[in-house]
Amino acid sequence: MSDLPGGATQLFVGLHLIHEVTSPQAFAALAEKKLQVYCPECTVATVDHIVPTVNQQRPFADHLAEEMLRTLESNCKKHKIEFFNIGSGQQGIVHVIAPELGLTQPGMTVACGDSHTSTHGAFGAIAFGIGTSQVRDVLASQSLAMNKLKVRRIWFDGQLTKGVYAKDLILHVIRSLGVKGGVGYAYEFAGPAIDSLSMEERMTICNMAIEGGARCGYFNPDSVTFDYLKGRQKSPSNAQWNHAVNWWKSLASDSSAVFDDEVHFDASKIAPTVTWGITPAQGLAINEDIPIPESMGANEGLMATEACSYMNLKPGTSISGIPIDVCFIGSCTNGRLSDLKAAAEVLKGRHVAEGIKAFVVPGSEQVAKAAKAIGLDKVFLSAGFEWRQPGCSMCLAMNPDKLEGRQISASSSNRNFKGRQGSANGRTLLMSPAMVAAAAIKGKVTDVREILRTHN
Ligand code: SF4
Repeated sequence: MSDLPGGATQLFVGLHLIHEVTSPQAFAALAEKKLQVYCPECTVATVDHIVPTVNQQRPFADHLAEEMLRTLESNCKKHKIEFFNIGSGQQGIVHVIAPELGLTQPGMTVACGDSHTSTHGAFGAIAFGIGTSQVRDVLASQSLAMNKLKVRRIWFDGQLTKGVYAKDLILHVIRSLGVKGGVGYAYEFAGPAIDSLSMEERMTICNMAIEGGARCGYFNPDSVTFDYLKGRQKSPSNAQWNHAVNWWKSLASDSSAVFDDEVHFDASKIAPTVTWGITPAQGLAINEDIPIPESMGANEGLMATEACSYMNLKPGTSISGIPIDVCFIGSCTNGRLSDLKAAAEVLKGRHVAEGIKAFVVPGSEQVAKAAKAIGLDKVFLSAGFEWRQPGCSMCLAMNPDKLEGRQISASSSNRNFKGRQGSANGRTLLMSPAMVAAAAIKGKVTDVREILRTHN
């Protein structure tokens, strides 16, 4: 790390994650300038966005997808980059596999040509998404120029209640602070509710920090972090482990640390949260009504009018009860084992409502294997869900998994922008995996707590 003449800081990138979508032009630019990858051992690849989730037989039916994968295979081979390809047992969404392999570690600077690189901040890493030209720069120099961020501490008192998850917590933050509220900031999450979250829940929160405008999200590394990392394939081992943990402990913010801004929430007051509009900030607690634009400020009102028109929702009506066509569980936000477990808890002994298409896409081959080992695939299948192969799937729909026409989805992913899930007119409601499962059973947006109560 060093200061550059213009005031920016040159950061060494300890882990550069690449995938098939944002790396081809970067490698082509490198070839044009006859440059090599500066630090192949700091670079790791996987394929995620374009992989089909039904039939992964090569060559893929989609010629463009096949070509993108072949290009990545060839670039990794040429530059001696480790590549976790389909069938390796370790392929999956880039933000799922790096943590589960133990690649993401506290104190690292992590970069990837994908916005949701913020996920890795859950480990006490500084992690951010970069554009294709920056992917080229990192490949060529293993460093990046960046301006210093302000830090906002987001403090959560209390504890999450039954049926309320990390996804609800971050949707609540984004709803409260807005999609641009974090611009210029890194979000540091702290407080009693945060301390008791698992690493997978922490990843869900940091994953969506970017949706609140923050450049990155961050958790102080603690015993939960160390327990998660211990024994993973790329984690430090033997004598290096103790040395690493001692250093990681020293990274946590001091209790006397001063922040540029602080915001407080009470986790115990948060209800299951669902988006109703076309930005992740347009969210509501499940017992609230869709806002009336005339009762809002001018700008917000205009956005609400546009959102209601696109979503075909009536202001003043309840978010609960909106009929659903498609239910999708997966993505780098909520495609991990604990997410599948939470959804399976809701689905067990129940069945998807008639006419609903429901599918679950594990975030990685390792997640799929672990889920199968405890019988989760059977729970999903007997509930009427399709069990798919790992990939990004209908989070971005760069593969064949797409909404059709005006279909509306209950989705555990992270973006509800117009056309995000593969149909130009498709509509997305973001929610937790358990809430997606509840929507699948009832065929409409439903408070998962009602279903969980009847289980007991
Ligand atoms: S799951 Fe979605 S947000 Fe995550 S990396 Fe894939 S496309 Fe991007």
